[in-house]
Amino acid sequence: MTVTRFAPSPTGYLHVGNLRTAVLNWLLARKLDGTFILRIDDTDPERSRQEYADQIRRDLEWLGLTWDREERQSDRFDRYHAAADELRADGRLYEAFETPLELDLKRKKQLNAGRPPVYDRAALELSAAQKTALRAERGDGAWRFLLDREAVHFDDLIRGPQRIDAASLSDPVLIRADGQLLYTLASVVDDAEMGVTHVVRGADHVTNSGAQVQIFRALGSEPPMFAHNSLLTDVDGGALSKRLGTLALNDLREIGIEPEAMVAYMARLGASLPVEVFTERGPLIESFDIEHFGMSPTKFDVEDLALHSAKTLRALPTAAVQDRLIGLGMPVDSVPEFWAAVGPNLDRLTDAVSWWSLCQEGANPIVADEDGDFVAQAALMIPPRPWDKNTWIAWTAAVKDATGRKGRGLFQPLRRALTGMDRGPDMALLMPLLKRVRIAGEA
Ligand code: GLU
Repeated sequence: MTVTRFAPSPTGYLHVGNLRTAVLNWLLARKLDGTFILRIDDTDPERSRQEYADQIRRDLEWLGLTWDREERQSDRFDRYHAAADELRADGRLYEAFETPLELDLKRKKQLNAGRPPVYDRAALELSAAQKTALRAERGDGAWRFLLDREAVHFDDLIRGPQRIDAASLSDPVLIRADGQLLYTLASVVDDAEMGVTHVVRGADHVTNSGAQVQIFRALGSEPPMFAHNSLLTDVDGGALSKRLGTLALNDLREIGIEPEAMVAYMARLGASLPVEVFTERGPLIESFDIEHFGMSPTKFDVEDLALHSAKTLRALPTAAVQDRLIGLGMPVDSVPEFWAAVGPNLDRLTDAVSWWSLCQEGANPIVADEDGDFVAQAALMIPPRPWDKNTWIAWTAAVKDATGRKGRGLFQPLRRALTGMDRGPDMALLMPLLKRVRIAGEA
């Protein structure tokens, strides 16, 4: 049974970077008929906010990334402390009293001497009496996990075989001096107890995984499989700019990005299969394979996403947009015909609103001086209502015969006269939806 989890820290809104991780975890679980857990990593009381957790949930719902189980780390502190006790009992957790300033000095000295800035384990040398004295002077210490100083190996589903030399890592702090229990331990306890089989997360966690593999084993569990997805970069290959890096899902929703497009885009960006339009999830899930992803940094281009979103929107069936169009004020009965006419022409769903009101209220005709007589003549030939999808064709054919105009010179002035726009939906489909056409005397 496959179990994946998406584990955002509710210290901000979801953005394109962490969204990719969410999509990969969700797809992997769905592909393998597994369980997808939403885990709110809120061990940091100062930076975590309920408002962010709520928004993360809304964002995932908007994207249709449904979860089967939800967990909150702040509900599980007793589990983490139990695990810490176990590690302490096994001699894998030790108390260290250095202040941040002292640690900083040590690091600088090591760097100056050309040595890697790895914590020197001075705390291991402290006698019981020295610890008591330090505790009296400074309060509780931080608790560090005693790494085995050996190489950790794991097969990353994206990055291939990994070797992390734990001797080059500092023993990670699992509990801070102020008592705060840290993610590094909490995540391992959760992944082990919740039966997580695949940890899919950003490549910034690779080294972390080396230490966590040892913590899993120290707690008597086998580590899950890892897949570290590459980080997103700007189109020029540089780190994702501040603007894009913090581009929240809300911002993307506001610029009209379709949720289906967002998910399909993230499912293919940086993978060996091309980004394609998907209007439903089944085929997207079917085609998903985490091993299609590469380890090189992946370019993210919001313009390209917007284009992909427009393509997706145009391909969406009525059923996929009906509720939203009704929400924008369209009567349910009108939706199918309206969508068939207008949908294939939109970049963003909300642009449907102006076409809808144009259909209801009529447009101010735009007639160029040189087209004045032509449009006046054509207006007299508009077939009587009711209009259907053949009306435009019959009308323009008759106008063509009467005036000798053809091609763009025929169609463009008539489009502008009817809609007041230079471009827009297929006129044959649009014309029957136009409730008022001023040049036909329908003021
Ligand atoms: N809360 C962590 C983060 O957002 C989760 C990392 C993980 O998936 O283990 O980076």
